[in-house]
Amino acid sequence: MLARARALERSGRDVVHLEIGQPDFPTPRHIRDAAIDALNAGHTGYSPTPGIPELREAIAEHASGLRGIAVGPERIIVTPGAKPLLFYAVNALAGAGDEVIYPDPGFPMYRSLIEHAGARPVPIRLREENAFRFDIDEFRRLVSDRTRLVILNSPENPTGGVLSRSDLEAVAAEARSRGFYVLSDEVYLHFAYDEPFTSVASLPGMLDRTIIVDGFSKTWAMTGWRLGWGVVPPELFATFELYNVNIVSCACTFGQHGAIAAIRGPWEPVEEMIAEFRRRRDFLVDALNALPGVSCVRPRGAFYAFPNITGTGLAADELSRRLLDEAGVATLPGTAFGPAGAGYLRLSYASAFERLEAAVERMGRFLASSS
Ligand code: PLP
Repeated sequence: MLARARALERSGRDVVHLEIGQPDFPTPRHIRDAAIDALNAGHTGYSPTPGIPELREAIAEHASGLRGIAVGPERIIVTPGAKPLLFYAVNALAGAGDEVIYPDPGFPMYRSLIEHAGARPVPIRLREENAFRFDIDEFRRLVSDRTRLVILNSPENPTGGVLSRSDLEAVAAEARSRGFYVLSDEVYLHFAYDEPFTSVASLPGMLDRTIIVDGFSKTWAMTGWRLGWGVVPPELFATFELYNVNIVSCACTFGQHGAIAAIRGPWEPVEEMIAEFRRRRDFLVDALNALPGVSCVRPRGAFYAFPNITGTGLAADELSRRLLDEAGVATLPGTAFGPAGAGYLRLSYASAFERLEAAVERMGRFLASSS
């Protein structure tokens, strides 16, 4: 969609980009300065495979405080973005004969990785009427003796759904009794607007059964730096380290020095960015709900709105394509995130407030003329 939008722009059209999943803010100044200083100080060689010790210490402290867990640096591995950790976890744990439960609609990488590992993907459907949370009865029916891993993503891409503490408790109870692992993708944890974030790893008995995936991309607007981290149970750590050393050696060394500054703060730039995302969310959801044929549940987290567009009479793929071609608004069809995304669009509000206003106005004009 981005490539198509860029092609339109090259032909002189103005396009509002609501298809992109990265903050539209620059990386805060003190973080950039720390990386530049590290470069100039000669930190240009390899770092230890799991990350530079000071960063692992800082992450352990930060990750523990936020989640109410107690982990030391020996559990922390630093990777080039959060994505490698998803790959490592699925490949370390799942293979032929195993089942992996993952959210649908969900981040497309999950299903792709499960299939690649030769395991059976078992989607759990996230429904609008349930605020895009798990239906726990359905979850219990999907769990089997072959379940090896359950992937959670809360706050979720693309729906903005947030799992409640009782959802997490139900997942944890099954994990303890059946003995499966949980991969908890928490890259949007700071973007939980309406409730304090809960990590499944903080529930009794779950720390050694949970791989926490987090990173710098979203929270500090650092997508291009490629820096993420995992909190990994001791019994899996050597495997994650083996993947890291053989695939990437280490994450970018001077970038890791910037990452230390990110965690140490100041945190004001992050807080300001999140306040702005909340303001955009509230505007966008209200504006979408005023459009003909569109209804939108207020997302509780991340930076995506996931409006139901069935009332427009157009399928998501067609509506997304026509909004780009005829109205200059780039979105993603919900089906890009799994079959359960049919009937929805994903709109990223990582775009300036005025651009969101322009997008909704253009969508309104398009929908009025096409009905
Ligand atoms: N997990 C989810 C749910 C995401 O939406 C993304 C990026 O869009 C990632 C992981 C990957 O993030 P990173 O840039 O740290 O690799």
